[in-house]
Amino acid sequence: MHPTAPTWTAGRLLVHRVDEVAFPAHTGRWLLPAATPKVVDRAPWLRPDFAAPDGALRLASHTFAVEADGLRVLVDTGVGNGKTRANPAWHDLDTDYLDRLAAAGFAPESVDLVVLTHLHTDHVGWNTRRDGDAWVPTFPRARYVTSRAEWEHWAAADMEPARRQMFRDSVLPVRDAGLLDPVDVPEGGAEVAPGIRLLPTPGHTPGHVAVELRDGDRSVVITGDAVHHPVQLPRPDITSCVDVDPALAVRSRRALLASAAGTDTLLLGSHFPAPTAGLVVTDGDGHRLVTAHRVAP
Ligand SMILES: [Zn+2]
Repeated sequence: MHPTAPTWTAGRLLVHRVDEVAFPAHTGRWLLPAATPKVVDRAPWLRPDFAAPDGALRLASHTFAVEADGLRVLVDTGVGNGKTRANPAWHDLDTDYLDRLAAAGFAPESVDLVVLTHLHTDHVGWNTRRDGDAWVPTFPRARYVTSRAEWEHWAAADMEPARRQMFRDSVLPVRDAGLLDPVDVPEGGAEVAPGIRLLPTPGHTPGHVAVELRDGDRSVVITGDAVHHPVQLPRPDITSCVDVDPALAVRSRRALLASAAGTDTLLLGSHFPAPTAGLVVTDGDGHRLVTAHRVAP
């Protein structure tokens, strides 16, 4: 079903992609309404990996498991199993995600650090698992890190019922167990472990962060939802309909892409289907993704 997912390197850091679910084909149209088939046609390199022949965007949900100098780190935690969700594609999932994570060498008890790019449903789900009537932390030894701006925004927000439900089953149990660690993320970023830095990329949500993994002059950047799909490389102005502040999201996306462009920083998309990773190169007045590189044997 799931062929062995690829592993990338940044110096001595190893990054595994751990698959959860593919998004239904209609998700792209719903999520990024301005990414019409005409727009896709103008970037032929999007096919076949990132767009279907009819121009529909391909999207996936996976997490990244990182071996960093003896530290075991998970970046985002997907949708999760058994959660009551309004989106039928995410409702009451029963995937073998935890088996795939363990197969990559990350048994739940072995995870030291969970980094949450933001507190949306498809990024926090495996924070918890069901235990009888309760939701308990899936990674009982881990410190769960998110930006303080993100935590404070949602904790104070008058959330719609679906979001409140997600917060109750996937975020608050981690806080109640004393495992949640909201950190300040200044403009230059915040290092949360050696070589692991949160990069402020607000807009999609108020405290959204991308995650830089670095060893010496080798680095990888995990986008979170600062970039949903590679079509936003040539067209960073294309916003998602769930951005809290679309104009700010565009500014953050432009800055993130500009900082990666022309470097050998590997960009890993949190919703990019295989091959998922690439270098950002300047192309006209935008960018394109040149896929793969530095894949571990
Ligand atoms: Zn997402």
